[in-house]
Amino acid sequence: MIFAYSVTWGQNDHRFKEWRNSSLSLFLGFSLLLFQNTLASFISICIANYLIVLGFYMQVSASLIIDFPDKAFRKRFILLLSVFFWILFPWFTFIHFSTSARVVAISLLLFVIYSCGTLRMRSVFTKNLPKSAFTRELFILFLISGIFYLLRAVITLAGPGIIGSLFDRNHITSISLLYPTIFNVSYIIAMFLAGIKIQNSLVHKEQEKQSALFHFLNDTAKHLKRKDLYKSIETILRDSLGLDTAAIYLKDFNKEAYTIAYAFNYLKIPGDRISTLKSGEGVTGRAVNEDRVIRIKIEDYPDRELAETFAARGCTEVISAPLRTPDGIIGAITAAYSEKTRKVILDQDFFRILAEQIALVLNNAYLFEKVSNMASTDPLTGLLNRRKLLQLLQQESDRSKRYNLNLTLAMMDLDHFKKINDKFGHDSGDTVLETVSALIRKGCRQTDLISRWGGEEFLLIFVETDIEAASAVCERIRTMVESAGVPCLMGDRLTVSAGVAPFDFEQSIEQNIDLADKALYMAKNNGRNRVTAIKPPTEEGTEEHS
Ligand code: GH3
Ligand code: MG
Ligand code: MG
Repeated sequence: MIFAYSVTWGQNDHRFKEWRNSSLSLFLGFSLLLFQNTLASFISICIANYLIVLGFYMQVSASLIIDFPDKAFRKRFILLLSVFFWILFPWFTFIHFSTSARVVAISLLLFVIYSCGTLRMRSVFTKNLPKSAFTRELFILFLISGIFYLLRAVITLAGPGIIGSLFDRNHITSISLLYPTIFNVSYIIAMFLAGIKIQNSLVHKEQEKQSALFHFLNDTAKHLKRKDLYKSIETILRDSLGLDTAAIYLKDFNKEAYTIAYAFNYLKIPGDRISTLKSGEGVTGRAVNEDRVIRIKIEDYPDRELAETFAARGCTEVISAPLRTPDGIIGAITAAYSEKTRKVILDQDFFRILAEQIALVLNNAYLFEKVSNMASTDPLTGLLNRRKLLQLLQQESDRSKRYNLNLTLAMMDLDHFKKINDKFGHDSGDTVLETVSALIRKGCRQTDLISRWGGEEFLLIFVETDIEAASAVCERIRTMVESAGVPCLMGDRLTVSAGVAPFDFEQSIEQNIDLADKALYMAKNNGRNRVTAIKPPTEEGTEEHS
């Protein structure tokens, strides 16, 4: 007992506490057995047996890397063994059996108990402890103890016979008493070894956590793009920590809600119940609302439908932590995993630190994106600025030339914009610019590049598009602008003109832009509110829509 206490003192893990307490329980139990022959023997045996059962139970429980399934199991297990020891054992001892019947009964009973114990221990040990953890030795000891009891019962029943003639009956009796003692001592040693193994594995798992975190930091330091970061995050969660599924929710400031920005192997529930959550909603919403890590067992999960979906993936627990930056909470990370397959002990402190790191790198990526965008976009309309457009045009013209693809430019300009400014003021002019930019964006395809070239001029690049298709897009935008009502113009007409020109790879970029400008000039000269296209060099001439 002193040994157990000295070895595990100061260890706060509940397994060590349990192991420590079990030695106290066993010590008291065995001490009480010394009073067997006194008047109080019945009570002392009852208490002793109970303490011994409890002590053994705690040792087994302490030696498992994974706890026993639930508290109910613990109660049932102790009750079952106590029934044997507490009621049957004293009953056999004190009711007037003939001596041999008593010996047979007790021997058979102990044989059954030891055999069941052997099988039970074996399955528990082999399932939960490292292979080498003394399990075979224990198994053999159990078996020998059981066999000796059986032998004793047989000899008592059948008389000395052949076996009895080989061994003195008293000899067998004393050996059969000796074996449980040896067993108990070995058992305690085995527990101690198992305890050390557990501690080693705890240390190992702790190291694994540190190394996972280190690799994560190292990996994320290399990336500034969110897409790459999400991959790094998935790697640490899935491969290093062994989590089955996770989702990163980021705050959507427009909706005051949290939306999934990235997920792997996550739930797919019909409707929008999971992809967007409000603060306080679900486990994720609670983590955000209460600003703390929340871990919950699947059976306690409030939403049964979700719990079943998680459970179908083999997950036994869900954990969620807020993504906190110095400026506040930007989202949350929620993961689910199986107790069996997770690779580290996922304590809340570790998950909080991990979530903080994730929040930090995502926030940095967001700031980087914002600064990059600022350098390449126009603040009023959000369209590409002239510098960025020129850079992209260079890339696109090189690519189109190499792969022999069509490339078309269009210059678009608001008609009589000066008058709008003069009549309704500069602010209304700005609103009109924003409205027209939104319409251009709507009219174009995802692959088209749109820039605010100057004051109220827009330069559009249509990749892999011939002049007809580009003209059609411009025409569509022209009609959209014509029919759009801009409230601040109080019914005044708003129109645009556009000049479309095919990109000539023999000419410089500036010359090509001049060509589009020339087409626009022609559209203006021909009465505005129209699209004028310059035909490719092979088909001389211009074409007009209005
Ligand atoms: P046209 O039909 O020939 O294009 O006539 P226009 O009046 O649109 O052409 P002009 O180039 O003479 O005038 C452009 C005006 O656009 C001049 C300037 O006041 C205005 N402008 C340029 N940038 C901005 C801006 O950012 N906001 C506002 N409100 N007005 C701008
Ligand atoms: Mg204009
Ligand atoms: Mg202009």
